[in-house]
Amino acid sequence: MSLATLCQRCALCCDGNLFATVPLQPGEVGAVRRRGLVVLDRDAGAALAQPCAALQAQSCAIYDDRPAPCRRYECMLYAALAADEVGLADALAVVAEARARLAAVTDALPGDGPPLVRARVAAREGHLSPETHALVVRASEFLERRFRGHTRR
Ligand code: SF4
Ligand code: SF4
Repeated sequence: MSLATLCQRCALCCDGNLFATVPLQPGEVGAVRRRGLVVLDRDAGAALAQPCAALQAQSCAIYDDRPAPCRRYECMLYAALAADEVGLADALAVVAEARARLAAVTDALPGDGPPLVRARVAAREGHLSPETHALVVRASEFLERRFRGHTRR
């Protein structure tokens, strides 16, 4: 139950903050498209675009039929809670800290979509100030250290 609570209050692995895409197996593409979700055709193979359109009110609307990479994925925080290395309250505090760091980037770089994606675009176009860059590093480092680790979808 606490694992479900954590994910329902987090959703960072589905809202584009942790991942830009979710790779799909060839056999999953048709079902995902029929659900009305956006599938990207990349050289490396088909992928589900993120933020995921199946994410509704912090929950996966196709949870029982979600693609295999979504089923397999556990971030470091999820794994730590599952192993009782951290309690739910502390895990939720980590999510709140991640959201606060991302919000700081959003405040400095208003717009739609995941703030770190906007920051990458701004950096490419030469519009990222040193102050905002520091906020981006602060948020990225936290996501890497507390969530992503070595686990990729
Ligand atoms: S990032 Fe981790 S805690 Fe957050 S929704 Fe995904 S698996 Fe759950
Ligand atoms: S299909 Fe569900 S679990 Fe997979 S990225 Fe989309 S919302 Fe998340």
